[in-house]
Amino acid sequence: MTDALRTDRCHDAPAGLKDLIAFEAEQHKAGLTGITWPTEYGGHGLTLREHLEANREIGLSPMPNAVNSIGKELAGPIIMAVGTEAQKLDYLPKILQMDEIWCQGFSEPGAGSDLAGLRTRVERTADGWVVNGQKIWTSGASKSQRCLLLARTGKPEDRHKGLVLFAVPINRPGLEVREIRSIDGQKSFCEVFFNDVVVDEADMLGAPDEGWAAATRVLSIERATNRMYRAWRFQSEMDHLIAACRSDARAFAILTSYRRDLAQLRVEVEMLKGQVETLVGSLLAGKEIGPRGSFPKLYWSEAHQRFAQLAFEVVSRFPANAGPALRDARIRMEDIYLSSRAETIYAGTTEIQLDIIAKRILNLRKAA
Ligand SMILES: Cc1cc2nc3c(=O)[nH]c(=O)nc-3n(C[C@H](O)[C@H](O)[C@H](O)COP(=O)(O)OP(=O)(O)OC[C@H]3O[C@@H](n4cnc5c(N)ncnc54)[C@H](O)[C@@H]3O)c2cc1C
Repeated sequence: MTDALRTDRCHDAPAGLKDLIAFEAEQHKAGLTGITWPTEYGGHGLTLREHLEANREIGLSPMPNAVNSIGKELAGPIIMAVGTEAQKLDYLPKILQMDEIWCQGFSEPGAGSDLAGLRTRVERTADGWVVNGQKIWTSGASKSQRCLLLARTGKPEDRHKGLVLFAVPINRPGLEVREIRSIDGQKSFCEVFFNDVVVDEADMLGAPDEGWAAATRVLSIERATNRMYRAWRFQSEMDHLIAACRSDARAFAILTSYRRDLAQLRVEVEMLKGQVETLVGSLLAGKEIGPRGSFPKLYWSEAHQRFAQLAFEVVSRFPANAGPALRDARIRMEDIYLSSRAETIYAGTTEIQLDIIAKRILNLRKAA
């Protein structure tokens, strides 16, 4: 990994998109992505155990976040679950080799937590299927080649019925991507507008009424197994902060005033690792994990957000004439603080995870 890619150094010239794509393609060649995907689709044909082992190493290393995480963590598993053989052979190797970056077109201005309220329509016409509507918060759409679109064939009142998934090429006429600038200064997510966009039947994933079942079935497993590296990345961020503070007695004195909170967070990192390992064990034993996939998402996002707040407070108090180790840590912890604000929102908000656990694990339905 070149110095420009390391997230534990501040850079005058940070790595650009081309470098990040090349790095991710190399990661695949090195056996670090597509670990459980079948070899005939470009994967490495191994088990979730090896996936977990690789994720430990990825988490402990200061690697940049993946550019094509939607392709690998969401689109890929959906294609494997409902795609035709021709679709699997076509789409899957391109995802792993970084020839096609994917984005997820699910959320809309009036449909986030209540995804079944989405209104984007797709109609069968003599020219093919035609899409009209708007998506929002579409991460990475401006650098993607395909959009995993969830749209409806009927009326909004049909809710979960009549939802269909398409693999839409981003360069189709009538499809417009507008970037949104977020608080960290990045243009990481976008609005996507569909005005009479024609999509091919060959790019439909699953049957016209299968969209909801396919999306939710895969999402419950993915919520548990995606980004498994996060527990270990959390640990390495904490270790980075502590190591940087050790380089300067003034910073170390600031850090030690947070020692109880840091000790508590370290315990939570271990709890999180335990949750991930337990879920992997269940999946390897062929057990259904269903709503238990909400545990690591909820636990990680809440604990990591508290760590990010603490780290931000510590680095904000660093002396003005801090040396390079403290400067690197300050830049990294500020980035972590800003991006952590969204962690309790995306992939299902904290309130939605609590609702899933209350209803589906504790069987506590709302009183009438
Ligand atoms: C960084 C980031 C990246 C994202 N990337 C993508 C992407 O690539 N593709 C995509 O499709 N979407 C993406 N999203 C959108 C994300 O999935 C939604 O933001 C999320 O589902 C919440 O929807 P919403 O923003 O419409 O908020 P709302 O659903 O309007 O929720 C607002 C508040 O109300 C609460 N709430 C809502 N319903 C209930 C309920 N029933 N009970 C209790 N409380 C409730 C929520 O918890 C939240 O606090 C991204 C979001 C973020 C922040």
